[in-house]
Amino acid sequence: MKYKSTRGGVSGIGFIDAVLMGLADDGGLLVPESIPQVGEETLRQWRGLSYPELALEVLSLFIGDEIPRPELKALLDASYGTFRDPEVTPLVRLREDLAVLELFHGPTFAFKDVALQFLGQLYAYIARKTGSVIHILGATSGDTGASAIEGVRGKEGIRICVLHPDGKVSRVQELQMTTVNDANVLNLAVDGTFDDCQRIIKELFADVEFKRSYHLRAINSINIARLLAQTVYYFYAALKLTGEGAAAPRFSVPTGNFGDIFAGYLAERMGLAVGKLILATNENNILERFVREGVYRPGEFRSTHSPSMDIQVASNFERFLYYLYEEDAAAVSAFMARLKTDGEIAIPADKRAAVQGIFDAYGVQNQECLDAIRECHASTGYLLDPHTACGVAAAERLAKGELTVALATAHPAKFDESIRLTGIGQTFPPAISGLFDKSRHVTRADGSEEAVKAELLRFF
Ligand SMILES: *Cc1c(COP(=O)(O)O)cnc(C)c1O
Repeated sequence: MKYKSTRGGVSGIGFIDAVLMGLADDGGLLVPESIPQVGEETLRQWRGLSYPELALEVLSLFIGDEIPRPELKALLDASYGTFRDPEVTPLVRLREDLAVLELFHGPTFAFKDVALQFLGQLYAYIARKTGSVIHILGATSGDTGASAIEGVRGKEGIRICVLHPDGKVSRVQELQMTTVNDANVLNLAVDGTFDDCQRIIKELFADVEFKRSYHLRAINSINIARLLAQTVYYFYAALKLTGEGAAAPRFSVPTGNFGDIFAGYLAERMGLAVGKLILATNENNILERFVREGVYRPGEFRSTHSPSMDIQVASNFERFLYYLYEEDAAAVSAFMARLKTDGEIAIPADKRAAVQGIFDAYGVQNQECLDAIRECHASTGYLLDPHTACGVAAAERLAKGELTVALATAHPAKFDESIRLTGIGQTFPPAISGLFDKSRHVTRADGSEEAVKAELLRFF
C-alpha cells in the first residue's frame, strides 16, 4: 500500500515512510492511496479471531509486504501482550441496547495504548532495521504523552520529548508522564493550553530542515499508523455483536482530535457494517456544531471534566474533509487556507446532509457528564470515566433503544478529581496508586516555539 497527502504534494510513499513522515511534507495529512475493501466472506473468516490475530489481518491490508508477515505478527503480539485483559478490548454489556468497549487495559489505562504500544514497537523495529536514531516529538492533552512514553521508554535508538499544558492535565496523567526516569524521555510542561502545544509541534514539524536534520517523528494522531491500529477494535466489537445475531451497532465515540472516530469512519469505508457514528464532545463542541450546522469554527477553549477532549482544533478533521470531498486535494488545500485566513470552514447543504448520514453529534455539558456517571453507576453498578460518560450521555440522548457500543476510552482512576464530584468512591489499581510517592522529572517552557526548540536542541 502506498500513501499520499490530503493536499496533493506527496504521493507514492510506502507505509514505513508514511509513519516516519508523520505530518506530510506539504503540510497535509497522509492517507492510503486507496481504502482496502473487505468483503462479507473475509469478515466471516475474521469472526472469532483473537485481537492480535485480527490486528494482523487488518494491518496487513495497509502495510502489504513492507513488513514481512511473521515480523508484523511479532510486533503485534508484543504490543498487545502488555494488556492486562486477555481479550485486549473486552466488550461489557450494560443493558440490552448498550455495551461498553473497554479500551483501557493497556499500561497507562487509556485507549491511546492500543495504538501507541504498536507505534512504539514499530519505531523500535525501524530503528533496528535502519540503524538510525529516532527522535519523537509529541503534544498531549494528557493521555497520549503517558502512553507514548510508556511505548518507547528505555528502548534502544529512540528519544522522546512530550509537551503537555502545565496544570491542565489530570494528576494521574501528570504522574504517569513525569515519574518516568529513563534517560531517553524528556517531559516539557508548557505555559498554555493543549492547542498551544499542538501548534508548536505543528510549526516544528513544518520546519522541514529542522525535522530532517533531527529525524523528528510524530506520535500524535496525525500519524497514520495510530488510526490504522484503531480501526481494529471497531471490527472486533462489531464482528462479536453481529456474530451473536445483533444488528450492526452504532458506535458512540468521545471525540477530541477526530482521531478515534475517524478510525471508525475508515472501518466503515472498508466495508464494516455499522450504524451511525455518534460524535460525542464536551463543552468544546466545535465538531458537534460542524455536524449540525456544517460550520467548523474553533472558538474559546473550555476546561472540562474530560480534559483529553479539551481541544478546539481537531487535527484529523482534514482527513475527513478529504474524503467528504471525494479525495480532492485542491479543495482541501483551499479549505485549509480559508481556515487560516477566516478562522472557519463552511460546507454547503448537500455536503452537510452527507455528513449527517454518517454521524450524529452531541456536546455534553459538565453537569450532564457528572450526572451520566452517577446514573450509570446507580442503575448498573458500572463506573464510567468522564470521557466515556460523554459518549454514553450522547448515545442516551440521541436514540435510546438502538444497540450502541460506547467506546470506554479511559479507566475512571485516571480522572478521580471529577469522579469524586459525583460522590462515588473508587479503589485505584496498584499500578496507579504506586505513582504517588515516586519522584518527578519535568522541565518547564513558556508557550513559544523558540523556547521549546531550545530545550529540544539541548536534549537531542
Ligand atoms: C484522546 C482521548 C479522547 C479523544 O480521542 P481523539 O482521537 O482525540 O478524538 C477521548 N478520551 C480519552 C480518554 C482520550 O485519551
